[in-house]
Amino acid sequence: MSLLNQFLTTVSTEERWLLIFPSMQQTLQAQHLMERSGLQGDFIPTPKGFGPVCTTAIVFSGLLAPEVKELLETHQLQPTYLEPWRRLPPGPAWEEALQAIETPAYGDLLLQCREREDWAVDDVTTLLSPPTAQDKIALRLAAEAARQETLGDVVDVRGAVEFGNECRKDCFYCGLRKSNRHLTRYRLSEEQTMQAIEDLYNMGIRTIILQSGEEDERATASIVDLIRTIKSRFGLRITLSLGERSLADYHAFRQAGANNYLLRIETTDPELFRRVHPDDDLEERMQHLIWLREAGFLLGTGGLVGLPGQSISSLAQDILYWRKLGANMIGIGPFLPAAHTPFSQLEPGDLDLTLRVYAVTRLLCGRTFIPSTTALASLHPEGQKLGLQWGANSIMLTHTPEEVRAHYHLYQNKAKVDLDFACQSILDAGRQIPPYLRWTQKEERY
Ligand code: SF4
Repeated sequence: MSLLNQFLTTVSTEERWLLIFPSMQQTLQAQHLMERSGLQGDFIPTPKGFGPVCTTAIVFSGLLAPEVKELLETHQLQPTYLEPWRRLPPGPAWEEALQAIETPAYGDLLLQCREREDWAVDDVTTLLSPPTAQDKIALRLAAEAARQETLGDVVDVRGAVEFGNECRKDCFYCGLRKSNRHLTRYRLSEEQTMQAIEDLYNMGIRTIILQSGEEDERATASIVDLIRTIKSRFGLRITLSLGERSLADYHAFRQAGANNYLLRIETTDPELFRRVHPDDDLEERMQHLIWLREAGFLLGTGGLVGLPGQSISSLAQDILYWRKLGANMIGIGPFLPAAHTPFSQLEPGDLDLTLRVYAVTRLLCGRTFIPSTTALASLHPEGQKLGLQWGANSIMLTHTPEEVRAHYHLYQNKAKVDLDFACQSILDAGRQIPPYLRWTQKEERY
C-alpha cells in the first residue's frame, strides 16, 4: 500500500461540518447566533471545492448539527452549504512529501496536518523543528502539496502604495516610530496616490494595498475619499494596512468600499508583545481584529519571526492563533533591524526558521493567502523565491513614488520589489505568473 493510500485509510472525514453563506454579513450573523446559544463555530477560509477563495466559512462539530439547523431555521438564515466537511483527497504532490520523511514520528505529525483539529502548542513546536535535514525537506514538500491542492500554482500579485509614513506609535522594531527624528516624514497628495494606483491598474493588478503608518483621526475623511475615488475610477479591490483605528473608522472604510484589512498581531506572546510595543495592548489588538471582521472585512494578520527573546513555542502559539482566527491572509516577515530604533543593533531573524514558519502556517491554516514578503526578499537575495517554495502563494509589490520610497523605512536594506522583481521571483520559483498581469520578461535578474 502506498503511503498516500495509508494516509487515506487512516483519516476520518465526517467529524466536522461546514456552514457557508452567500454573504459575510450572514456568516457573521450565524456565528453570533451560535455563540449566543453556546454552539461553538470557528471561522476558516472557505476550503477548496466549497466556494470562492478569499471567503469565510464556519466549521463546527457534527454533533451540534441538529441544533445548528434548528437555530438557522428559527432565524430564517439560508446557507448555501450545511453538510459534513468531506475533504478532497490529497493531491499527488503529497506522495513526494511522504516519501521524503526520515523520522517516523515526525512523519506521523506531518500526515495529521490535513485532518487533525485539536493542535497543541507542543505538537506545532515539533512541526516547526524537523529532526533531520531530510525531514525538513518533507516539511517543505508537504507545505507545497497543501498550497498546490488549495490554491494552485498561479501566484497572486498585489500592489501596494505607501502613501504616508507619519505614525503616532513607537514600536521598538520599526523605523517609522514617532521617536525617529532622522526620518523625513511625507504624505502623498491624492493626485500622487491616484497616479500610483493608475500605474498599478495599467500593470493589470486587481488588488491594491493602501499602506501607511498609524495616522490619527484627522486622516479618516481623506482615506474615505480616496477609497471612494479608487473604487469609482478603477473598481479595484482594496486592502487597507493603516494600523489600529477606531471602530467607527473601520465601518466608514468598509462602507466606502474597502474589502480587506491587514493588521498584523506580530506576536501573541503577551510578555514579548509588551516588550516591543510600548503603546499597545495585546488584547486590544486582538479586539481590533474582531472588530474588523464584524465590520465585514476579509481579515489579514501575521507576525514577525526573530524578535528578541522569541521562542519556537511562541511562534507555534502565533500559528495556532492565526488558525483559530480563520485569517484570510497571513503575512510573515523575518525581523529586520531599522536604523535609529532601539533594536537597530540586533541580528535579523533567521531565514531557515522563517521558512519553516511559512510551511507550518500553510499546513495548519488552510486556504489562506500567504505572501512571500518584501522582508523575506530583503533578508536574502533569493528570499522571495524561497518563500514561494515554502508555502506562500502571493507577492505584494510596492509602487510608492521613487522620491519618497526610501522614507518608508520599516527596516534597513529594504528590497525593491517591483513588477519585474516579483515576476522574476515567480519564474525562479517554478510557479506561474497570473494571466491578468501585463508583463513581459526583459532580462535575467541573476
Ligand atoms: S509598526 Fe506600525 S504602528 Fe508601529 S511604529 Fe511602525 S508603522 Fe507605527
